[in-house]
Amino acid sequence: MKIQLLPSTFDAQGHATAEQRLTCFLIDDCVALDAGSVALALTDAQRQSVRDIIVTHPHMDHIASLPIFIDDLFPSLKEPVRVHATEEVIGLLERDVFNWNVYPRFSELTNAHGRVMQYVPITTGEEFKVAHLNVVAIQVNHIVPTIGLIVSDQSATVAFSSDTAETQEFWDVINRKPHVDALLIEASFPNSMSELAEVTRHFTPASLGQELQKLNHNGLDILAVHLKPSYRATLIEELQALGIPNLRVMEPGRTYNW
Ligand SMILES: [Zn+2]
Ligand SMILES: [Zn+2]
Repeated sequence: MKIQLLPSTFDAQGHATAEQRLTCFLIDDCVALDAGSVALALTDAQRQSVRDIIVTHPHMDHIASLPIFIDDLFPSLKEPVRVHATEEVIGLLERDVFNWNVYPRFSELTNAHGRVMQYVPITTGEEFKVAHLNVVAIQVNHIVPTIGLIVSDQSATVAFSSDTAETQEFWDVINRKPHVDALLIEASFPNSMSELAEVTRHFTPASLGQELQKLNHNGLDILAVHLKPSYRATLIEELQALGIPNLRVMEPGRTYNW
């Protein structure tokens, strides 16, 4: 399974920067997990191959360019862009984003070939198919309804926490899997900001370290994501200080294979 954390900011020469401001993971060039930078950082070929987008929750950093992505493709789509999300999140997207005020309600619009956007409801706890991937979604502990995801293909399994604070079911499902290759997990705020992290339901390196004790698998790659750019240097130091083997910070733009 090939996974990229898409870049979300670029310097004046157009080169991707190391900071992560938006969340969008691209899996095997065809499935996007969250849509923060989906309209900003895909190659032309990827733009033509991505038709499935899983939205974990409706926070701006996870959906920022979803409307722009569909807008860009509007005249050329020969099949709808499928937005996979829980009913709660679909309701929030329709109410707060695709509401004719912030952006058009694409789910009601068609081009010459048919519909341009289609919602596909996710039931948590039940495996479902997206393209060639088997996916299980689990409610995690964030300030809005949010799902973590466990994604498998023929040969690999990768878990994504999305935005969350301490949680349980996510770990129970991971621990029941015979093998997990990688865990992509958030670490948003430095240890000195544990109160804000708690209120907004995010991890600090310290609370992440505690949480990882719930993980029963050994030897998997653990990649920290969602580091708030303002505290990036401190977060990297504090994550290293945990001394957890195989824990690294995921680099935007790099291709990872499992
Ligand atoms: Zn969030
Ligand atoms: Zn976020």
